[in-house]
Amino acid sequence: AIQLTHLTKHFGDTPVLDDITATINEGEFYVLVGPSGSGKSTILRIIAGLIPATSGDIYFDDKKVTDAAPKDRHLAMVFQNYALLPFMSVAENIRFGLHNLHLSTADEDARVADALQMVHLSDLADRKPKELSGGQQQRVAVARAIATQANLVLMDEPLSNLDAQLRTEMREELVELHKALKMTLIYVTHDQTEAMTMGERIMVLNDHRIQQVGTPLELYNHPQNAFVATFIGSPK
Ligand code: ATP
Ligand code: MG
Repeated sequence: AIQLTHLTKHFGDTPVLDDITATINEGEFYVLVGPSGSGKSTILRIIAGLIPATSGDIYFDDKKVTDAAPKDRHLAMVFQNYALLPFMSVAENIRFGLHNLHLSTADEDARVADALQMVHLSDLADRKPKELSGGQQQRVAVARAIATQANLVLMDEPLSNLDAQLRTEMREELVELHKALKMTLIYVTHDQTEAMTMGERIMVLNDHRIQQVGTPLELYNHPQNAFVATFIGSPK
């Protein structure tokens, strides 16, 4: 499990996160949702080790990783802008993500081929990113993450650059992928529908704080405050 205990974050004098305490279970599809500026990406970056928290701690399976370097956290991240390398082919982009793992060439080949197959891109392995549609580029970014076989995958608004039709398709693909691989997935979105249709549990953030954590049904049927009710579109 991933544990966040009393995390706070300030940028200068500006408070961004206040007392974030949560447990994300092994294998869970866990969504962070909230309006723009509520601190979702900041939480993800702190979990990834890309920025430090101002105070509080993070544990991976009861091991404190608060001060661990990103590469020692054994996680993979998918960014909103995909972050693909333009001069490399699809297969090379995925292989590049395996660099730190020091695998044999044969193992790398197998990982790249498996990941491509999982995201339905085997036929496009030799293309450059600019020769792909937005949805295909997004799939490459996902393939790069899953090829690492990390137990923990972080995704920050991975579908926000796609049109509505493709977003719906990719939502279903990601849910299927999570079912197949059973990794712990922490997924950031500002889209309520995405949160409610994809998440097994959802953390609702607003005003630097956790407003509620629950399953989609819990949030819908028992919103703890007016913000959650309005944000989720609950009838109460
Ligand atoms: P969005 O949905 O727009 O991506 P978010 O919930 O991911 O929003 P964050 O990116 O976590 O929000 O930002 C939370 C707050 O922290 C915002 O007010 C933002 O301006 C501020 N912030 C983020 N990074 C920095 C930084 N490096 N320096 C100063 N302020 C920052
Ligand atoms: Mg963000």
